[in-house]
Amino acid sequence: MFQRRGIMLILSSPSGAGKTSISRAILRQDDNIQLSVSVTTRPKRANEVDGVDYHFKTVDEFKQMREAGLLLEWAEVHGNFYATPKAQIDELLDAGKDVLFDIDYQGALQLYEKCADDIIGIFVLPPSIAELKHRLERRADDNEEVIKRRLKTARQELREWNKYDYVIVNNDLDKSCTLVTEIINAARIQRSRQSNLSSFVKGLQDELESILK
Ligand code: 5GP
Repeated sequence: MFQRRGIMLILSSPSGAGKTSISRAILRQDDNIQLSVSVTTRPKRANEVDGVDYHFKTVDEFKQMREAGLLLEWAEVHGNFYATPKAQIDELLDAGKDVLFDIDYQGALQLYEKCADDIIGIFVLPPSIAELKHRLERRADDNEEVIKRRLKTARQELREWNKYDYVIVNNDLDKSCTLVTEIINAARIQRSRQSNLSSFVKGLQDELESILK
């Protein structure tokens, strides 16, 4: 009845800081949030499903989508292309659905520029570099060279932490998820997102006036 516009919730972090675990947990808990499924040219990992985790594309397919203006933002990360397809996003936001973007800082900065009013950005920090390295090494699909490349990228990514609205040190997955949930709940009741309530407030005022006459 009182439908508000959805939130664009961006979660960014260096690879291995835990943002994907946080985003998966939030998506499981909260029916009103939907993942923006990105397109990527990176090879699929064994545990990933095409169309669920990513839309896996060839470089040619990716370039065609980019040239056709189908991408809301795009970036090259660790030598592969990643992007957010435009389709659906506006439709979801207008329908009052919140959309979660698991994207890097380059994409986040593009979205902050294009859609500032709709965005809440959260940067997730690892508790230590040792832990970051350990988490990357546990991901068996990635070889040593890939891990090294991801650590190099982390150097750049860490510089961008101060561009986000919120920063979480991910010491404990459950605690980080609770913090993200609190941020989402607070964002949902921000006045600027609830202009749809003005007719409700007007109704309250009119009723009060008629009683006080
Ligand atoms: P991974 O290969 O580990 O799934 O992701 C590598 C990095 O690319 C992560 O930081 C992830 O957030 C980022 N990423 C995933 N999808 C997108 C996207 O659509 N746009 C941008 N800019 N980055 C993305």
